[in-house]
Amino acid sequence: MSRIASVLIPMPLPEAFDYAEPDGMALAPGDQVAVPLGPRLIRGVVSEVRDGHGGNRPLKPVAERLDDPPLPPGTLEFVQWAARYAVDAPGQPLAIALRGARAPKPRPQRVVRPTGAQPARTTPARAKVLAAAAEADLSPADLARAAGVSSGVVKGLVEDGALAIHEVVAEAAFAPPDLTRQGPDLNPSQAAAAEALKAMATEGGFAVALLDGVTGSGKTEVYLEAAAAALTADPDAQVLILLPEIALTQAVIARVTQRFGAAPGEWHSDIAPPGRRRVWEAVAAGRCRIVVGARSALFLPFRKLRLIVVDEEHDSSFKQEEGFIYQARDLAVARGKIEEAAVVLASATPSLESLRNAEAGRYRWLRLAGRHGTARLPDIELIDLRETPPEQGRWLSPPLVAAMAETFARGEQTLLFLNRRGYAPLVLCKACGERMTAPDTDSWLVEHRYTGRLVCHLTGFSMPKPAACPHCGAKDSLVSIGPGVERVEEEARALFPEARVAVFSSDTVFDAREARRLVESMAAGEIDILVATQAAAKGHNFPKLTLVGVVDADLGLRGGDLRAAERTYQLLAQATGRAGRRDRPGRALLQTYAPEHAVMQALKAQDRDAFVDAEMAERELAGLPPFGRLAAVIASGSDAAQLDDFCRAMAQAAPNTPGVEVYGPADAPLGLVRGRRRKRFLVRADRGVDLSAYMAAWRARVRPPGAIRVAIDIDPYSFL
Ligand SMILES: [Zn+2]
Repeated sequence: MSRIASVLIPMPLPEAFDYAEPDGMALAPGDQVAVPLGPRLIRGVVSEVRDGHGGNRPLKPVAERLDDPPLPPGTLEFVQWAARYAVDAPGQPLAIALRGARAPKPRPQRVVRPTGAQPARTTPARAKVLAAAAEADLSPADLARAAGVSSGVVKGLVEDGALAIHEVVAEAAFAPPDLTRQGPDLNPSQAAAAEALKAMATEGGFAVALLDGVTGSGKTEVYLEAAAAALTADPDAQVLILLPEIALTQAVIARVTQRFGAAPGEWHSDIAPPGRRRVWEAVAAGRCRIVVGARSALFLPFRKLRLIVVDEEHDSSFKQEEGFIYQARDLAVARGKIEEAAVVLASATPSLESLRNAEAGRYRWLRLAGRHGTARLPDIELIDLRETPPEQGRWLSPPLVAAMAETFARGEQTLLFLNRRGYAPLVLCKACGERMTAPDTDSWLVEHRYTGRLVCHLTGFSMPKPAACPHCGAKDSLVSIGPGVERVEEEARALFPEARVAVFSSDTVFDAREARRLVESMAAGEIDILVATQAAAKGHNFPKLTLVGVVDADLGLRGGDLRAAERTYQLLAQATGRAGRRDRPGRALLQTYAPEHAVMQALKAQDRDAFVDAEMAERELAGLPPFGRLAAVIASGSDAAQLDDFCRAMAQAAPNTPGVEVYGPADAPLGLVRGRRRKRFLVRADRGVDLSAYMAAWRARVRPPGAIRVAIDIDPYSFL
């Protein structure tokens, strides 16, 4: 009996393709294979094997089974589930799942080892080299350095036959976690939460807990105890800790390393391809038992995933907006269900979705009381900018400057928080009023003084700041409008010339190592004033930080999307929560033009429940998440008339389903990007509706012309 293998290919193709299984290959689901696609051989993953043959048209055979680990059943099922959920091709999540498998293998290293043969001639220098070579595998250059001799000595010993050069591929060494280590002392509230999580993680079976505790309440210690319990209970168990940003991974990796005496696997876009491959293979083989990573770590080939932690679960960075569009927090819960694992969602300011699930009893709700140790919550004050505005052309108001001066005089640290990169968000010509925008795109160019360039944060376009207005030709007429972190840094330096001032944003901190360096230098008290975007608002402990100044607390409220108030509350609560840990009382000052706004009042009163209640009531009234569900369709094309025609046809094709409302098409707020016009539909559905199925049915009814792209965004976070 011949058999057919369905093969998923990591490309945006609508379904798996069938191939004939060659005799004796004995394929199984999850196997990585090479299959012909057009003129090429391409890597794919077997999703199904069944008896049969291709009927009238003979199927092409699978070319080869690759010598790479198969995707475990849970990973394969998760990839297919994720594609259905996101209404996208299964090849899209598969491409993420294979990112490590497709990375090049680590290059072999040249190392020098003693052969055992005696050199013809012995000198003290040669003796030192032979002794060092016996100690460790080193490259010729490192060996010479270790022995403190010139490289000629090593070369001579190789020529003499006393040393030989070997090519070695470093094994992925993931030291097993030391499970005999004692965890830290927990306070009663932490201990109770840890017991509940340990039970969840060791009993097996799918369950979700919301670990809810203010900044500094010690959530990390609690979930690491659950990790220890899961790893101890089952020698094959694996644990995944997801973080919203690369900048945060280093701090958590340090905590994991300290707790278990071994570094976890690290997974994010800054890891070089050979390193990615090492982690991928070690996870697939079960040799790597703890992974700390960004959202795509969710697609790693875990063999026995017992616990998934989503730290800072409310963070909107878990939403992937480009390519395969998904919300990693929601997918983590789905993966937990498939793997029958425990899922912990941790946050000081949980998302309304998770709070709703906890209130309704779908998630176990574990609340941590107060701050760990003796730390106290900071006093939060609002600065009404209508009453005490900054001087013309300045951004820090007199009360904030006075508080900074007191803090600096006491030798303590200030964090100035502004969630806006660059120097100025807008550059305009004072002669003709022209606003500088990116070519063919409706977004303003942001001035960056460090690089002297104008940058489009949306498309990445950049150009040197011109000396004359490109529109009217006026010289020296371009003025910078509004503040970014670089401009606030400039002001802080001018106000406090003796202070050590630094900036933390994705433009000044390029990678995880640089982020760690800056965080360590802040923690060591080597910085007096740190000006930061949201990258620094999360997760770090700065013992000497006692003042947080929020430069523009209203910034997020002007976004005008569904989660604007929620996001602002979360961001500001996290930012102000940075002040005054350990034994030093902290202060947080928020500059605002709208002190009466519910978000500002809730922050001032430190009354999260009041904010959540008000926001939930509004969402429930409108049937918006978490009380209803949303999806967006973004259609784009360079021909405006063709796009209009297609969108009209798409509107007519929308299935009529009770509990579903379709709005649009409307011009997207960001109507033009890279020369392509954009239009949007918004779909609102009652909670009980299978929104993915509805969107898939709708999508199947229309055939966009080749020049038009249609993207579906389930549970959109961006409405641009
Ligand atoms: Zn001009």
